[in-house]
Amino acid sequence: MGSVSIQSLDKIYPAAGKNPAFHAVKGIDLEIQDGEFMVLVGPSGCGKSTTLRMIAGLEDISGGTISIDRSTVNDLLPKDRGIAMVFQNYALYPHMNLFENMAFGLKLARTPKEEVMRRVTDAARILGLEQILDRKPAALSGGQRQRVAVGRAIVRDPKVFLFDEPLSNLDAKMRVSMRSEISKLHSRLKTTMIYVTHDQVEAMTMGDRICVMKDGRIMQVADPLTLYHQPENLFVASFIGSPPMNLLRGRVERREGRLVFVEAAESDAVFVPLAGALAQRAEKNLGHEVVLGLRPEAIYDEARGADTTPLRARVELSELMGSETNVYLKTGAGTVIARLHTERRFAVGEELVVYLALAKAHLFDAKTERVIR
Ligand code: ADP
Ligand code: MG
Repeated sequence: MGSVSIQSLDKIYPAAGKNPAFHAVKGIDLEIQDGEFMVLVGPSGCGKSTTLRMIAGLEDISGGTISIDRSTVNDLLPKDRGIAMVFQNYALYPHMNLFENMAFGLKLARTPKEEVMRRVTDAARILGLEQILDRKPAALSGGQRQRVAVGRAIVRDPKVFLFDEPLSNLDAKMRVSMRSEISKLHSRLKTTMIYVTHDQVEAMTMGDRICVMKDGRIMQVADPLTLYHQPENLFVASFIGSPPMNLLRGRVERREGRLVFVEAAESDAVFVPLAGALAQRAEKNLGHEVVLGLRPEAIYDEARGADTTPLRARVELSELMGSETNVYLKTGAGTVIARLHTERRFAVGEELVVYLALAKAHLFDAKTERVIR
């Protein structure tokens, strides 16, 4: 069992030398279920590692409580918390073979020899390392070394696994394959895992739920599809998804009896009539500054009846991805990206009309940056 409960957690790094004190984690609350795969994601410096290290007991907390299995662990040493951590820089002992590397922690804890044997052999089998247990780390690939680091965590049979950007040092291909190995490991062990990454693709593909952080605060906690389709604020909207959501700043106005979105621009403003549920949301914000958000896949190259709104645009750049093409379009004040399901090639400078699926649009309050429902 390994639920983790975090309440009003704060971290203030004290001033040191010329560096002033720094408030790195600002009163976060987070409930992680037993067996859940929770990802902490956010840009570099937002407090992910600090949070994870406080859960591990490697960093003092400045305020709040952390509980594992409903008992507070604030004052417990790392070794007594029932956690095991895998870092980005997993230092293996170069003079020890893989078996010894994985067994080392257990031996320190005076685990009986047969038990050490059983646990290391089990972990090696799960990770596909059985054949190479007598090798030294120098004779391993980056991916194999990373698996040994995971193995060292598995043999401890923790209640909670903590991962801090464990794949960052691997090349792109190895990262993708280790990503699915860790996901498989989770479905096999069904142990709680808390996984830190700055990579939103890693977060989306691995997490049961994702906690998006920014500047020491939580911006939203949700499952991947909810984050993608119902972002609570502009930060989440722009952080999750690639290419990112198009965001147009402007104002809701009434023109000749109809509600319209008018982009804030000196000239060439995007101007779109609003209908249906979007118009209802917009109406409450008549005259206010808003941000209209539309994902690249909600822009089509052909009309779909009354469901789409035409918009004139000029091609700035197009990226042929295979089954689809990302087209960067100059329209209004800025550039809008459309992900079109076509293999057609677009010429730079080409004029065309694209069709916006505004029923899929998001509306945000420009000042508070919160979604308008
Ligand atoms: P992340 O893992 O999300 O990239 P960190 O948790 O490592 O971010 O750091 C959060 C913020 O706290 C950063 O601005 C970082 O510079 C600062 N920080 C981290 N460790 C220390 C420290 N030991 N002393 C002072 N500031 C620190
Ligand atoms: Mg970090």
